[in-house]
Amino acid sequence: MSIITSLVQRYRGPTRIYECRRCGTTLRASDDACVACGASSIAVYDV
Ligand SMILES: [Zn+2]
Repeated sequence: MSIITSLVQRYRGPTRIYECRRCGTTLRASDDACVACGASSIAVYDV
């Protein structure tokens, strides 16, 4: 049933991956620039 699916999704919550487009370093949501190379171009993936 869809009720169970919605409960599972609520429990897990949305997961986002922040990754530098230049060097591929994984960043935190609070980072507005790459901590490794300083690039401000950050890719966001919903998984
Ligand atoms: Zn970088």
